[in-house]
Amino acid sequence: MGGWAIAVHGGAGVDPNLPMERQEQAKQLLTRCLNLGISALRSDLAAIDVVELVVRELETDPFFNSGRGSALTEKGTVEMEASIMDGPKRRCGAVSGLTTVKNPISLARLVMEKSPHSYLAFSGAEDFARQQGVELVENEYFITEENVGMLKLAKEANTILFDYRVPLGMESCSSGVESPLHMNGLPISVYAPETVGCVVVDNQGHCAAATSTGGLMNKMTGRIGDSPLIGAGTYAGDLCGVSCTGEGEAIIRGTLAREVAAVMEYKGLGLQEAVDFVIKERLDDGKAGLIAVSNKGEVACGFNCTGMFRGCATEDGFMEVGIWEQ
Ligand code: ASP
Repeated sequence: MGGWAIAVHGGAGVDPNLPMERQEQAKQLLTRCLNLGISALRSDLAAIDVVELVVRELETDPFFNSGRGSALTEKGTVEMEASIMDGPKRRCGAVSGLTTVKNPISLARLVMEKSPHSYLAFSGAEDFARQQGVELVENEYFITEENVGMLKLAKEANTILFDYRVPLGMESCSSGVESPLHMNGLPISVYAPETVGCVVVDNQGHCAAATSTGGLMNKMTGRIGDSPLIGAGTYAGDLCGVSCTGEGEAIIRGTLAREVAAVMEYKGLGLQEAVDFVIKERLDDGKAGLIAVSNKGEVACGFNCTGMFRGCATEDGFMEVGIWEQ
């Protein structure tokens, strides 16, 4: 076994013209979360505890699209979703349609541990949250001014914000990636908030994965994306843990997270090879990205869209935080 490893993401598909200040904020938050996870791993916490801890931190900070700061539905409300999976026993829990639960990832964990089911949604999930005594807040707590503005723009343009699409009409920009002048009719300075995720392999070689999101800006109410779907947005087994981000509909079609594990299991590929294979063979162009760890203490990430907020660290001292290409 190769020791512990951790990776976090703050979503795929970054506005190529993201202001420097926002880039710095994102990097600082990712670094803070990585350090939180690293200390927990050094204290011998189990992978499942570490992914929950890190994702809670990301949900509580309004910067990314999960918990506070979640993307808004077409009605201006928040419907959050999350899932968590523990590799060794392939136990999992998922939630959708949450409107008052402060930390959706912890409710997903309670579904896994305290309910006879794997997935609870909408009023049933809220009832379960009350039964379990988790912290509840008003829906307004999750809604940021920035997201209200973005929803307005999305509505004016009559679009759901897919900022990770590779659109037509490109031009070069400061980040070094090609950028469109307009994206689905929206100016490129407008960017959609991004989903969060964490994958960990602990000192015992156990893998876990967790993903949490508000979904897509201006989504229909009732829409469920890939993030709470085990096998699509999240998966952990004996060999690896995976968390995806990007256009949920494309990730669902590709059963992306499980595919990474499957090609490792059935084709014998290594972690990064498996990630590259799945992105090339199973994912429509420009749609998404993912982070992964293996039970050997490796980390890998891959994306086929304009950037992904991400960070990773391994026991041997390697640590990296990035937004654009490697
Ligand atoms: N995958 C998420 C969804 O479709 C969005 C994201 O990753 O930013 O709900």
